[in-house]
Amino acid sequence: MLVSKEFIFHAAHYLPQYHGKCERLHGHSYRLRITVAGEPDVEGMICDFGEMKKIVKRQVIDRLDHTLVNDLIPNPTAELMTWWMWTELEHELPLAEVRLWETADNIAVLTAADAEKAKKMGAVPEGFALTAEIQKWRNEQGWGCERCQHADDVQVLDD
Ligand SMILES: [Zn+2]
Repeated sequence: MLVSKEFIFHAAHYLPQYHGKCERLHGHSYRLRITVAGEPDVEGMICDFGEMKKIVKRQVIDRLDHTLVNDLIPNPTAELMTWWMWTELEHELPLAEVRLWETADNIAVLTAADAEKAKKMGAVPEGFALTAEIQKWRNEQGWGCERCQHADDVQVLDD
C-alpha cells in the first residue's frame, strides 16, 4: 500500500549545462509529492503523516525553500533534484516515489526501481534521473529546445 504527502516550496535555480532560457536565473513554485510504501501497522498506519511531514521538512523543504538550489545541487534539473531528495530521505522513510512538479506540466518522477538500478550501477550516471516515463513524454513532445516551455508557468518568487 502507498501513502503520499505533498509540499510546496519556492526556489530559484539556473541550469548551467543547458542552452536556452533556463540557463538564466529564474524561480519556480515547486510541488513535491513523497510516497512511501508499506503495510498498515497495529494502529492501521503505514506512516504517521505528522512524522513524515517533519522528516521531509527537515531534510528537504527547509533546505530548499527560498534558496538558490544550485548552492546544493550544481545542475538542478527537476530530474536531478528528485535524486538528491531521494538520497536525503531514503534512510528515514520507506520511499516508493519522489515526484516533483517544476511547473504545472513539467514533472520528474523517481521510483524505487530507478533508485535500485542506480545503486547497482554504483553511482548516479550523468543524466540518470530521466525516467522512462519522462523520456517517453519528451519523445512524444519532440522536446529538445526550451526546457521551461511556458513562460506563464515560471513564477516570480514571492516574499
Ligand atoms: Zn527552471
